[in-house]
Amino acid sequence: MHCPNCGRTETGQVGTHEFFCWNCCLEFHGAPGNWRLFALDPDGLLVEVQPEPAGLGGVPLGVPAAAPAVHAAPEAGPTAAAG
Ligand SMILES: [Zn+2]
Repeated sequence: MHCPNCGRTETGQVGTHEFFCWNCCLEFHGAPGNWRLFALDPDGLLVEVQPEPAGLGGVPLGVPAAAPAVHAAPEAGPTAAAG
């Protein structure tokens, strides 16, 4: 079992579709390709976290990518070229 967040194998199963990574200290629920990641807060509650795309080992998590803001550049040209 590879951790969907760090790709390492220091994982353990804690439920039917629930796993824990000792390296990340994250719990992940679901199935390959459809993981939800959870962190344990100091009160022992599971808090869902969003994985960082750069940290993924090529594992698609189905995270919706935000569309980049595109600002149309005005046509370049001399504007202050007073003769
Ligand atoms: Zn991990």
